[in-house]
Amino acid sequence: MEKVECLIIGSGPAGYTAAIYAARADMKPVVYEGLQPGGQLTITTDVENYPGYPDGIMGPEMMENFKKQAVRLGADVRFGMITSVKFDKDGGNHFVTVDGQTEIEAETVIISTGASAKWLGIPSEQRLNGSGVSACAVCDGFFYRGHDVAIVGAGDTAAEEASYLSKICKKVYMLVRRDEMRASKAMQHRVNSLENVEILYNTETDEILGDTSVEGVRVVNNVTGEKKEIPIHGFFVAIGHKPNTDIFKDYLKMNDSGYIITHPDSTKTDIPGVFVSGDAQDFTYRQAVTAAGTGCMAALDAERYLSARGMTEEA
Ligand code: NDP
Repeated sequence: MEKVECLIIGSGPAGYTAAIYAARADMKPVVYEGLQPGGQLTITTDVENYPGYPDGIMGPEMMENFKKQAVRLGADVRFGMITSVKFDKDGGNHFVTVDGQTEIEAETVIISTGASAKWLGIPSEQRLNGSGVSACAVCDGFFYRGHDVAIVGAGDTAAEEASYLSKICKKVYMLVRRDEMRASKAMQHRVNSLENVEILYNTETDEILGDTSVEGVRVVNNVTGEKKEIPIHGFFVAIGHKPNTDIFKDYLKMNDSGYIITHPDSTKTDIPGVFVSGDAQDFTYRQAVTAAGTGCMAALDAERYLSARGMTEEA
C-alpha cells in the first residue's frame, strides 16, 4: 500500500496553496483533484479581487497557475476522487480510498474539498437539469445566446451571473424571494443598471415548465399569491452552496450545514493529523484569498504536527 506524508483532498485555492507550502517543506504532498479539478473558480469568469492581479484574471487561468506552481515545487497532483476515509482518532496514520478502489495510508490529511451549488429541490428542476436548468451561468449561459432566461437568487453570485447573462441573452429575469437583495450594494447597483435585467421581488419558483427542455417558469408572488408564467429557455439557480464534507461525517465535528468545525485560530480538527482548509470549514468569508490563506495554515499545522510526532518517536 502506498504511504504518503501529506495527502491533500481537493484542488481549489485552499488545496493548491496547502500543496505549495507542503512541497516547500519537503512533505512530498499528493493532491487528489476531485470531481471538479481547480474547484469553483474554474466556473467563474473575471476574478478582480485576488491580490497580485492588477488587471484581474480569468478564474480557470488563475487555477491553472495555482496548479503549475504546486507542481513546479514538487506536488504530485493526481486526477481522482477520495470516496471514503478511515481516520485514526488515537494519533495513528489515516487511510483513504481513491475512486472506491485503491487505499492509501497518510500521516497527515488536509481536507480542501470546498462546496457545491445548492438546488431548489423541486421535481421539475431535477427533471430538466442539463436540459435548460443549470447552476452555472458561466458554463452554460452560452447555450441561451439571444434567448430569455431566468436566474434565482439574490446574493453576489446571482447578481454576478445575472450581469454575465445580460451580455449574452436577450432578457434576464432575476427571481428574488424577499423584498430586497442580499448582494453587496455595488453588485445590486450593477444589476439595477442593466436594461435587460428585470428583478422580480417577493417572487418564488412554483414550477419550471417544459417536457424535454425548459420552455418557461411559473412564478408565485409570495405576498399576493398571484401566479404567472414567463416564457424562458434557460433557468439558472444561484442560491448558495453546500460544503462537500459528507464522507467525513463519521469522524469530524460539523455544524448543522455540514461545515467542519476546527479548533479556534487553527485548521486542526479533533483527530490528530487531520486538518481542514477553505470552504469545507468556512461559511463566513468563502473567498479565494481566504481559502488560500487557510490552505497555507493547514500545511503549516501539518508540518508542525509531523515534526512533533517525529520528536516523540525519536525520544
Ligand atoms: P449567498 O448565501 O450569499 O446568497 C444566496 C441567495 O440565494 C440569497 O439571496 C438567498 O435568499 C437566496 N436563496 C437561498 N435559498 C433560496 C431558495 N430556496 N429560493 C430562492 N432564493 C433562495 O450565496 P452566494 O453564492 O451568492 O454568495 C456566497 C458568498 O460568496 C457570499 O459571501 C458572497 O458575498 C461571496 N461572493 C462574492 C463574490 C465577489 O466578491 N465577486 C462573487 C460571488 C460570491 P435570502 O437573501 O432571502 O436568504
